[in-house]
Amino acid sequence: MNRARKEILGRLKRIVIKIGSGVISTAEGLDEVMLSRLAEDICDLREQGIEVILVSSGAVAAGRSSLGIGGRPQTIPQKQAAAAIGQPRIMRAYKEVFTRRNRVAAQVLLTRDDLSNRRRYLNAHNTLDTLIEYGVTPIVNENDTVVVEEIRFGDNDNLSALVASLMAADLLLILSDVDGFYSGDPGCDKNAQLLPLIERMTPEIEAMAGTSRGSLGTGGMQTKVQAAQKAGLAGVPTLIVNGRVAGILTQVVEGGDVGSLFLASSSKLNARKRWIALSMQPNGRILLDEGAVRAVAEAGKSLLPTGIVSVDGEFGRGDAVHICDRNAVPFAIGVANYTCSELEQIKGHRCAEIEQILGYQYRDEAVYRDNLVLIRDAAEELEA
Ligand code: GLU
Repeated sequence: MNRARKEILGRLKRIVIKIGSGVISTAEGLDEVMLSRLAEDICDLREQGIEVILVSSGAVAAGRSSLGIGGRPQTIPQKQAAAAIGQPRIMRAYKEVFTRRNRVAAQVLLTRDDLSNRRRYLNAHNTLDTLIEYGVTPIVNENDTVVVEEIRFGDNDNLSALVASLMAADLLLILSDVDGFYSGDPGCDKNAQLLPLIERMTPEIEAMAGTSRGSLGTGGMQTKVQAAQKAGLAGVPTLIVNGRVAGILTQVVEGGDVGSLFLASSSKLNARKRWIALSMQPNGRILLDEGAVRAVAEAGKSLLPTGIVSVDGEFGRGDAVHICDRNAVPFAIGVANYTCSELEQIKGHRCAEIEQILGYQYRDEAVYRDNLVLIRDAAEELEA
């Protein structure tokens, strides 16, 4: 077994398991046999002392037949209605197995808005933590009924990455209906191969995600790779496996050679930085000159107004912004100390001039280092 795989899978204490719709549903609706089998396997993991937070899709698939919708619901309200019908159905199916095994499951419904609000984020964390402390298995889904496009996670792959970050999991395990991440679509490309280990997220990997054979679920492989990227940023590795294979969870925790393992791109960030990087929604962009990119990306410095070339978007103090190079390629996310219109006035100026220009000064830094997280290697772009 590969060393990285052994190290990660050999000491799992807490995992987030994401079950895709494609795994626990068929064209007719919920696949109760598959769902029960996975629920049994999750109970086995709990009995081995592994904490599990489940992120389960399947609400829309479980509810749509009651609306008389054969294929996928077309409109968002139809989807929401189907989810409202299906969500209690999937919970009942999980509960049946958990009760038989003397275990308790809890439903947790989240929206992106909940996790971008620091107070609600901490509440969600505390609730999940308490459930786990009491031996309960949280079953998370997006709160489909109340979300509109702007506050949707859009897919549970993304949601699961945020939950993995929120709970500082040791692994994000994505159960899909394909065996893992392929270099292409094996259906039409005979050279397409399953990639067992992805050490670094490169533009090639991102491009492959677009062509790799996806699942029947909402996001295909693209959102899974995005989820792996996000989780990796928070220091959580991701493993994508085929959830329909019998005994797959046991194989994973025993370190079996299954699926595609994405290593984390950073060591675990502290809790606040994990929130900044994954949960805050950037409202604008700050573009920097080369010197400032180097200072922030390589020398670990705060961002000062003097290095700012331009600012765009609508953001206030305390909002998250993308920090970009001159070509608007983002390499960090940070919390702005000044509004966009204030930065517009003080960009390119030295700290000593801030008060004179604005008539007041909050701090020297436009973005303070402790409120900033690097999201990609800017050095590569500087060299290019
Ligand atoms: N929340 C949706 C459901 O339960 C699934 C979204 C997804 O699978 O990405 O049906």
